Amino acid sequence: MRAAAASAGRGSALALVPTMGALHAGHLALVAAARRAAPVVAASIFVNPRQFGPHEDLASYPRDEEGDLAKLREAGCDLVWMPSVEVMYPPGSVTAVEVAGPPAEGWEGTHRPGHFRGVATVCAKLFLQTGAAVALFGEKDWQQLQVVRRMVRDLDLPVRIEPVPTVREADGLALSSRNRFLTAEERARAPRLAAELHRAAAALADRRPAAPVLSAAVEALTGAGFSVDYFALVEAESLRPIEALGDEPARLVAAARLGRVRLLDNIAVPPRSGG
Ligand code: AMP
Repeated sequence: MRAAAASAGRGSALALVPTMGALHAGHLALVAAARRAAPVVAASIFVNPRQFGPHEDLASYPRDEEGDLAKLREAGCDLVWMPSVEVMYPPGSVTAVEVAGPPAEGWEGTHRPGHFRGVATVCAKLFLQTGAAVALFGEKDWQQLQVVRRMVRDLDLPVRIEPVPTVREADGLALSSRNRFLTAEERARAPRLAAELHRAAAALADRRPAAPVLSAAVEALTGAGFSVDYFALVEAESLRPIEALGDEPARLVAAARLGRVRLLDNIAVPPRSGG
């Protein structure tokens, strides 16, 4: 991969889009941003076993290698890096990168123990494998974006992390590779998560205390058949919970299950257009 990047780039900076495949328009927005960020664009496709818990959906995670390659070619991606699990983690591989505090604490860090250790480890490896100067991450996975930024700062990795706004369906549902597993009836209800985020953000923008606003959202979602893991107001960078909106950038983050699909979403407070 390093040799391919070096010969494709001939010394130019490389922008990397790390993905787990099953690509959709959200991933392609990252590729488009990568093309603006650097002259050579690489995407990686690697379903990283280390970021899945023992009872999670690693085995059933969607895969579409042929479709992905066609989409990446069409989007103007120059290189695709698809390491096997054995190449990424050769026998005997035991080293991990752990972001041992905020922003990795709480939320996904609580509901998916070990998840961010897997994410940080694979991202560090991907940055080193590709020599990327820039890496693009979706705001869709807000906590992941902050965890990767923290790791890059803490380890002085020579890569710039660039966020890309969440790409949504017309009805507000954030695009996700897992949305294909929603039944038609669940798909019709799924935009409620984004709708409640917007409703809560508008209420919080009036500087109201967060607790009743958040519990009203949880109640509404539960009533609509969601099983809510969390719906929280947090400091945008550290992901620490906050009780009311102050002057610091804040974010509403939420995760909820609808049938077999776990939906993840977040927005800025007060909402920015496109956030
Ligand atoms: P994944 O393949 O789900 O691991 O996602 C790979 C990258 O695409 C991550 O940086 C995600 O945050 C980003 N991504 C996923 N869905 C979206 C979306 N709807 N909008 C923007 N970025 C996204």
